[in-house]
Amino acid sequence: MNFSFWEQNTFFSDIDVAIIGSGIVGLNAAIHLKTQQPNLKVVVLERGALPSGASTKNAGFACFGSVSELLDNLAKYPQNQVFELVEKRYKGLHKLRNLLGDDAIGYEGLGGYELFTDSEFYQKCANAVESFNSELRQVIGNQIYSTVDSKINEFGFKNVKHLIFNAYEGQIHTGKMMNALIELARSKGISIYNGVKINKIEAQNHSVDLVLEDGIIKSKKVIITTNAFAKQLLPDLDVVPGRGQVIITKPIPNLPIKGAFHYDEGYFYFRNVGNRLLFGGGRNLDFKAEETTEFGFTDLVQNELHRLLREVIIPNFDYEIETRWSGIMGFGSQQAPIVQQISLNIFCAVKMQGMGVALGSLTGEEVAQMVIMDL
Ligand SMILES: Cc1cc2nc3c(=O)[nH]c(=O)nc-3n(C[C@H](O)[C@H](O)[C@H](O)COP(=O)(O)OP(=O)(O)OC[C@H]3O[C@@H](n4cnc5c(N)ncnc54)[C@H](O)[C@@H]3O)c2cc1C
Repeated sequence: MNFSFWEQNTFFSDIDVAIIGSGIVGLNAAIHLKTQQPNLKVVVLERGALPSGASTKNAGFACFGSVSELLDNLAKYPQNQVFELVEKRYKGLHKLRNLLGDDAIGYEGLGGYELFTDSEFYQKCANAVESFNSELRQVIGNQIYSTVDSKINEFGFKNVKHLIFNAYEGQIHTGKMMNALIELARSKGISIYNGVKINKIEAQNHSVDLVLEDGIIKSKKVIITTNAFAKQLLPDLDVVPGRGQVIITKPIPNLPIKGAFHYDEGYFYFRNVGNRLLFGGGRNLDFKAEETTEFGFTDLVQNELHRLLREVIIPNFDYEIETRWSGIMGFGSQQAPIVQQISLNIFCAVKMQGMGVALGSLTGEEVAQMVIMDL
């Protein structure tokens, strides 16, 4: 099959900017381009019936870094980079909330908590609370992190020794947020085509050919926002996929857990969705097996999620699983996303390092701005 004359001359003619991938980053890039330059023809090309990467599969934490994550980051990267990225995440969350509105994304500012089962590790984190609070006060506000062991019993946890609270963390309804982004993009005149998998990109003198099974789409500029799947089009990029497995329970009457919770340096995360419990993570149980772009589940991770539910998180409740899913994140050796011009007329913004709800809006805007400067 190939495109008809009509198809070529209507849907895919005179494209100024084609964006590959309709996740948070791609849609934000498209919206920024069209807001700044309304006359541009901007199209978003997505391989799935819905966005099929991480943006519709995540846990919906509106988070910017737990104490243990920040400590871990500071051991690996320069201090100024670590705190700059925290600021970017926090500002990114506000940008997303302002762009779409809290109602439209189901935002709830219930705060976040970090659970500790190891006292020695907790002490290290507790010792850092004061300095993190003073470092981030200007950007975020007063008393961000605090120790709140008194709440352990209130939540009904077992085997948890300590809790650190983050007063500025929140949670969103991921589906509503993505739906609102798609609607906003469409309302600005951006065309989003689904079921369009780009197999190859070929730079021409004044345009770029996007090669798919049905034919070729030409665009003056291209932005690749395929996150974990970036290597399929750009093999040299430092992007490694990381699968996240998630389960959600059926409603649990009187569920005491409200808010967004991190455990084991953020490798496990859970939150309430109304009176359901959403729980995911466990990539660290077998990094190699989860370093994949294939959706799916493993017994190792699923068994550990259930064990933690039974023994630590909701030991006093019976629960049934409503559904489960997986999604693919993009990681790499550097902490920040990769936002760059790849070659003449080709740009990319990928690798959200597992925190794209916070980073996606600003990253999309950043790459769109690069393209505008190059028009
Ligand atoms: C299980 C899980 C839990 C998470 N929890 C959180 C959280 O609580 N808070 C947080 O901040 N972040 C979280 N994240 C991370 C966050 O979801 C991502 O960082 C973010 O969604 C990345 O957005 P993106 O637009 O860069 O990429 P994606 O959403 O992955 O979008 C890339 C898109 O490109 C498309 N695509 C790929 N290849 C092609 C191709 N060749 N042609 C056309 N289209 C293509 C894909 O189908 C996909 O829709 C989580 C991720 C997962 C998987």
